[in-house]
Amino acid sequence: MAAAGNRGLALALAGIALLLTATLAAYRPPAPLAANASPDAFSAYRAAAILQDLVGDGIPHPIGSPAGARMREAIVKRLAALGYAPRLQSGFVCRDGVCGNPVNIVATLGGSTDDKDAVMLAAHYDSVPAGPGASDDGAAVAALLEIARILAARPRPLHPIVLLLTDGEEAGLLGATLFVQQHPLSKQVKAAVNLDARGTSGPSLMFETGTANAWLMRLYGSAIARPITNSLYFVVYKGLPNDTDFTVFKAAAYQGFNFAFIGDVGRYHTPLDSAANASPSSIQHQGDNALAALSALANSPTLHSPIAESIFFDGFARALVVWPAAFALPAALLSLGLLLAEAAILLRRGAVTLREIMWGGVGAICMLVVGVALCAGLLVLLIAVGKLPPRDGGSWISQPVPMHVAAAAIALLAAAGASHWLAQRATFWGYWAAAALLGALLSVASAVIIPGASFVPLLGAAAAGLGALPFMVSVIRSRARSRTTDAAAPTALLPALLPALVTFAALFPLLRFLYPALGSLAWPVSTLLLGLGAATLLPLLAAAGDRARRQVIATAALFAVGGALFTLGLPTYSADWPERINLEYWWDPDTGQSHYLARCDSRRLPAALTAAARFDPVPRPRFAGGGSMAFYAPAPKLELAAPELELRAQPDSVSQSTAASPAGSSATRYVLHLRSLRGAPEALVVFPASAQVVDIVLATASGPVRTQLSRLWSGATLLDIVSLPDAGVAFSVDVAGPLPVTVQVFDQSYDFPQGGTLQRARPPYATSSQDGDLTVVHRTVSLYPAADR
Ligand SMILES: [Zn+2]
Repeated sequence: MAAAGNRGLALALAGIALLLTATLAAYRPPAPLAANASPDAFSAYRAAAILQDLVGDGIPHPIGSPAGARMREAIVKRLAALGYAPRLQSGFVCRDGVCGNPVNIVATLGGSTDDKDAVMLAAHYDSVPAGPGASDDGAAVAALLEIARILAARPRPLHPIVLLLTDGEEAGLLGATLFVQQHPLSKQVKAAVNLDARGTSGPSLMFETGTANAWLMRLYGSAIARPITNSLYFVVYKGLPNDTDFTVFKAAAYQGFNFAFIGDVGRYHTPLDSAANASPSSIQHQGDNALAALSALANSPTLHSPIAESIFFDGFARALVVWPAAFALPAALLSLGLLLAEAAILLRRGAVTLREIMWGGVGAICMLVVGVALCAGLLVLLIAVGKLPPRDGGSWISQPVPMHVAAAAIALLAAAGASHWLAQRATFWGYWAAAALLGALLSVASAVIIPGASFVPLLGAAAAGLGALPFMVSVIRSRARSRTTDAAAPTALLPALLPALVTFAALFPLLRFLYPALGSLAWPVSTLLLGLGAATLLPLLAAAGDRARRQVIATAALFAVGGALFTLGLPTYSADWPERINLEYWWDPDTGQSHYLARCDSRRLPAALTAAARFDPVPRPRFAGGGSMAFYAPAPKLELAAPELELRAQPDSVSQSTAASPAGSSATRYVLHLRSLRGAPEALVVFPASAQVVDIVLATASGPVRTQLSRLWSGATLLDIVSLPDAGVAFSVDVAGPLPVTVQVFDQSYDFPQGGTLQRARPPYATSSQDGDLTVVHRTVSLYPAADR
């Protein structure tokens, strides 16, 4: 019997290996089309030539920058050359405490009827201050221009098409906010296709749709040649700190699709997001998807479909499976019912005892708990010894494959260990019933809590229930009450093999993108997910011979330990996958203090930096009440001009009746003017938590703009102005807290003084990121009550 059991286990493991290979082969972007490809097709190489022209100089082009203005001009020229009449839209907007003056580019293509409902293709042309943003989002801009060329040559679609190139996305979705709030076309647009990236390679994933999701997914399924999507992506994305313009479009009730690629996330928002590092294959996939999705929307008879949630996933990037979210719970309950009935048959016919099923449950749960604990423990250990960055920064490393292997091996080790421990007590059918019922319960729970994730356990539970049917029939037909545990019989093999293969087929595509999405958290999560898959192997492991189980345990342990040892031995960062280290110069004329600040993902200062300046060994917050930590070193005083926060009128008492403050309570209104005297492009005002800011209104050329401040962990609130005009900005702020209020004001420029001596000490395996290296001038200003007169 053991030999037959071994065959079953070997068959399952071989099938799983095959599924893994198929997954790795399927989830890749397509080959890029050459520049001389058919003019009606999207060619990545034509787009790459545009990209090279736009960002080949490697100069970052954040909102308000001269490079941004040059890029805008180049885009407008290209659109005009294609026969469009591009227009600029600019205006002062605020979103979540970030304010600025983005300049959007808008072009339109008329529809074939006089229907006014429009569809939109959107990408952002600004970059972060640290890098040229070739993939994020220059590649999408280039793709949009290639698509604009194709559309101009095609027959007009049913609905007009709006091409929108937003500015200030990186600063806080400012351009999209401006479009939705102020552009006349924004009312006409009913659906948008948004293109973005959080990395420089990999396939284009569709990870977010509008609320009429059932209609959209049918459209997507029929339009997209290489669908890579599932309803779990959005669940994961919502848990990440990242945002895209689509958030603004969705809030404006637009339908549509959000696409991004996320490979090589180590280069994201760094100088390495360059034209040379952009992947033509990713551009091809993103361009194909955008053109197909946009065309499908533009030719859809209606753009008004009811809100309806669906559950969906692709099969090896070849086909799309969709069902209504309302089916999830009934289907899960049906699977649970079927499995309970089958368990009852097994119990009645004496194939299994209740005790065996209970031991099976104990084994399955122990295996999951032990697996996740082992992987999480390994993670904590590697962070403690400095081989992995802490969780709160970018937690990716240059060589993640050994940890991928370790996380998978730990799941198998836990399963094999549990099956070995309880093989006699739980038996084949005890484990089968326990694992299948556990999966069914999980599918019921997920259908209620996170329907988007319910398809994985549902598929596994349904496969177990259906796969066991032939065996159940044979058990009912056989008169004799016998303990049929021959796992080699085809009828007994199917109930174990089918759920295993189906579960792993559903899991692998999710696991494929888990690490680029989540960083090191992906490893314990992978162990948990693979544990759910490995639970389906428990019956086969129990039916296998003692020796086979020991072999599996030894092999899995070897790979787990090997993966951990390799991770210990390999460098955490490389020039190609660098650590993020930002250097800042801070000058405070009020205190006369000047410092260099170093912010490191690893929370450890490289020796080269400690040799270059006298850094304190313990990091401190960058400013009072701020969350991010930096190492401080003394720096020379540069006497840079300090930002100005001027009182423009006597403080006034105002009565408040906002939601934040009950009617009738009073606040003090300050009318202030903020200006950078050294022409810095960004200025920030930090109000302490005690100030209780109840209202803030900016005075702009187009009228007053009210905003909500962003709240820091300390309770302090923050006003952040990007693309700060030389003349500064005026605003009024109502504070309800005790006076005086002491605010911090600082302006920042995206440069580093002193000829960059410290910059040159930054090791080759490190890079600046996001806002990049900064020069900051910091002040403290007290706002007093009105003088008695
Ligand atoms: Zn972006």
